[in-house]
Amino acid sequence: MFLNRFASRLVFAFLLLAAGSAVWADYSTLPTLPDGGRVRPENRYFDVTPRIAPADAETTIIIQPLFDHVRFREDCKYELTYTALDQVYSEKSPFRVKPKPVTPADNRLTLNFFLAGEQEHMLVLEEINADKRRVMGEFHLYTVNEDLLALRPFKGDFHMHSNNSDGTESAAYVAGACRRVGLDWMALSDHRKYAPSAALKDAFQGMPIDLRIYPGEECHSPDNPVHIIAFGHNAAICDLYLDAAEAQARAEVGELKEKLKKVPENVNKFHYASCQWVTNKIHERGGLAMLCHPYWVTGGAHNIAEPLLGALLNSKFFDMLEVVSGNGSADANAYDADVLQASRYAEARAGGLRLPACGISDSHGCESNETFGRNFTVTFSPTTELSDIQGAIKKGNCTAVEIMRGERPQVEGDYRLVKYTLFLLREVFPQHDELCVEEGRLMIDHTAGNSTAADRLKACQGQVKALYDQYWAVGR
Ligand SMILES: [Zn+2]
Ligand SMILES: [Zn+2]
Repeated sequence: MFLNRFASRLVFAFLLLAAGSAVWADYSTLPTLPDGGRVRPENRYFDVTPRIAPADAETTIIIQPLFDHVRFREDCKYELTYTALDQVYSEKSPFRVKPKPVTPADNRLTLNFFLAGEQEHMLVLEEINADKRRVMGEFHLYTVNEDLLALRPFKGDFHMHSNNSDGTESAAYVAGACRRVGLDWMALSDHRKYAPSAALKDAFQGMPIDLRIYPGEECHSPDNPVHIIAFGHNAAICDLYLDAAEAQARAEVGELKEKLKKVPENVNKFHYASCQWVTNKIHERGGLAMLCHPYWVTGGAHNIAEPLLGALLNSKFFDMLEVVSGNGSADANAYDADVLQASRYAEARAGGLRLPACGISDSHGCESNETFGRNFTVTFSPTTELSDIQGAIKKGNCTAVEIMRGERPQVEGDYRLVKYTLFLLREVFPQHDELCVEEGRLMIDHTAGNSTAADRLKACQGQVKALYDQYWAVGR
């Protein structure tokens, strides 16, 4: 038993070695997308459908070469090696590890495979011409249970600034740049300002764009150091605490503070009550509330005092935690924030915390901020409608992604979704993002007054949905 398994692994190791550069290629010369991703060559050379299929079901997989240099030839034989990443197999699973002959017809390969479990699957296709073997491609598929199969992954960011507060670019430029870096939805969150985010969609009124633009705001209630993002709300929070409204806001916070029970002695009760007040107001206005960058270093200290952070994590005031932040500080320990947030989050979850993790850029300049387009949230939802995106976050159907330059992605969230997100970042989002680059450039052209942008955007409209329909084999 041991020997057999060992021998088959040895065969597979040799196969991979023989495949050499084609399988484990260094793609460093390929064009890099804004988030650092690259489209793998075989994902350009071939159409493979579906990419995402139901778990524990039979699926018809079609592999079709698109170019002459990879077309199936009459004088060659073909072999396929199948492996499942988690090694979850069933009686009905296809042959494993050892290559098996396959026969293309009409320049396409049609395979009926039973794919077990929620996991990634790999198919290595080889061409055999006399005694020469050549790896034609390594194709990756992912199978998910029914609940996840009905949802689509959408990239979004809802913490960023325009020149309406302390950002560099105007709001419409920021929206175009969001599409250019591959986002499906976004919200501006200027400091103490709601109006610019709510008005932003008007800048593209009647334009054929697929980016969804929603309201947002970074809230700073009086004398409260805690920054709170409101996302998708229908009226300003800042109007409730700025200028003439401030006295009323302070009085309401004071009332909440008087009623507080069970707050540990060393917690600043005014700060705590102020967070309760802000999050109440956000919820009353249909928004979600995010606890921002607790470990951001400002004035030589973390943004939120440790006792207050502990109390806020236990408070149930918030809908999500900013686990991946934007490194907005120039301090030497700015880069420690995300590591501390991830570690604290993991520990709190182990203790029973149910607070979804989000990733954002906190960009203050789309052309200069190193986290813009590299830190984002992936939501798993039926559509990009606001209620679907908010619903996905509330249910924890989201992951927080951080891709530092030159590094592989870090992903936070439920293990099941982290595993799926890693697959999407390699095999789906690069193709998705390429389409977005084109659209984002045209949105920026439109903002600059280019009158041809509308027609060119019209030609692009729906292309990401078409890609997803193909990858999920919708209507096949
Ligand atoms: Zn902030
Ligand atoms: Zn901010």
